Amino acid sequence: MVERLREQGVRDERVLAAMAAVPRHLFVEEALAHRAYEDTALPLGFQQTISQPFVVARMIELLAVGRPLGKTLEVGTGCGYQAAVLSHMATDVYSVERIAPLLERAKRNLRHLRLPNVRLKHADGSLGLPEAAPFDTIIVAAAGPTIPQALLDQLAPGGRLLMPVGPSWEQVLVMMERRANGFSETRLDPVRFVPLVAGVE
Ligand code: SAH
Repeated sequence: MVERLREQGVRDERVLAAMAAVPRHLFVEEALAHRAYEDTALPLGFQQTISQPFVVARMIELLAVGRPLGKTLEVGTGCGYQAAVLSHMATDVYSVERIAPLLERAKRNLRHLRLPNVRLKHADGSLGLPEAAPFDTIIVAAAGPTIPQALLDQLAPGGRLLMPVGPSWEQVLVMMERRANGFSETRLDPVRFVPLVAGVE
């Protein structure tokens, strides 16, 4: 999988090492485990998907250009795969998920890996995680029409946020960087993510 990521253009050795360190088959259901290292999104149940390895690597690489990830918030834990990858590069990972049974599964998946710097929380990530803010990095694994203001407010000076923005048929990754006098916005790759949904269940 890592060789394929390299061929697809992922260059950051820190990212490639983190991707190599996390066994993706532990995060997908047994019936799909033989497909865990294909470059494809796979179903998690609850109409959610585990992100495609290339997209996970690409997003983390963009966030880590020229700097460490520092204290990181992930919105949309899903099965916990991306949180595990992030844990190898960030000082602390806070990951929030709105669907309780998915979060329970992520907890079980991550327990085996013993990652002391990952904390999971059942919450609506569109509100961020005020009790742990500010964050150096915010990575959103679900798409919305706009970037929630609460997430921008919880970004530390110099911090970066990456989120898929737009309707399902034309989402792009949007990078927001907090500068001394406001935010810089960069529109990047076209992507396809499940929707960011308000409230918890
Ligand atoms: N990061 C995951 C991918 C998760 S898919 C991985 O590594 O596989 C996106 C997840 O975002 C879904 O589990 C969905 O339930 C969750 N989600 C959607 N809206 C949310 C919100 N407002 N707060 C928290 N999680 C949300």
